[in-house]
Amino acid sequence: MTESKAKPYDDKESRIEAIRTIHEKLKQAWADEVEVPRRKTLDELVFNLLLQGSSKERAERAFEALTEEFHDWNEVRVTLPSTIVEVIKGVGLESLKAVRLVKILQGIFEDRSEVDLEFLREMEPKAVGNYLGNMEGIGGHAVESVLAFSLDRHVFPLTKAAERFAERFGLVGGKNAGKDFKELAEEGVPEGEMPLFIVLLDYHNQVVCRADRPKCSKCPLASDCLRGKKAAERSRRRKSAAAARKQSRK
Ligand code: SF4
Repeated sequence: MTESKAKPYDDKESRIEAIRTIHEKLKQAWADEVEVPRRKTLDELVFNLLLQGSSKERAERAFEALTEEFHDWNEVRVTLPSTIVEVIKGVGLESLKAVRLVKILQGIFEDRSEVDLEFLREMEPKAVGNYLGNMEGIGGHAVESVLAFSLDRHVFPLTKAAERFAERFGLVGGKNAGKDFKELAEEGVPEGEMPLFIVLLDYHNQVVCRADRPKCSKCPLASDCLRGKKAAERSRRRKSAAAARKQSRK
């Protein structure tokens, strides 16, 4: 089914207001279900490398296996990729990820004489993006996740699921939908709360606003969402048609 392209908001301010409402309602609905990860900068980068083409659960398992197996990232740096492959088994693309991980750690070591990325805290987001973006296998989403979760920068790393949610909700549409939603989120979510918003929306998209068959009738945002309102209207019409049929049989 194609997502709605309608935009029921008159101006940008009302869309930003909608982001604030979404954030508040997501907090009320899911705050007890989620945990905001607070990883060190290099840990977050490694986690995002493992996450590519995988699921959050599998990436978390692989990340934990690495931290249990090795004393620190320097030990990983001097380990054969074939050994790392065995440790992260199940995450997917293990050989590629193991080779890239060693390369990234080696690159940091050659540049800094240590295997650590906390120095990025002192740098501007663009400079962080340039530094991390030069690493093999590190894309824009990984860079922005590091900025948001580890470096406390007010950045929203866009995902396909978030874009789909925003289109269904009626906040954005068309070919710039993703870019527009990212901009709205960065303007509408209060400073300091971006990591929580990212995690809440991610959880919401996993359990309710799923790719296929979203559970609109159980959604805490249904009364504000364009698709949710349409689903409620269809359900109301079905019920009154059924009641009318029942009545006519009497
Ligand atoms: S009402 Fe449906 S489409 Fe809208 S956010 Fe909820 S689950 Fe997604």
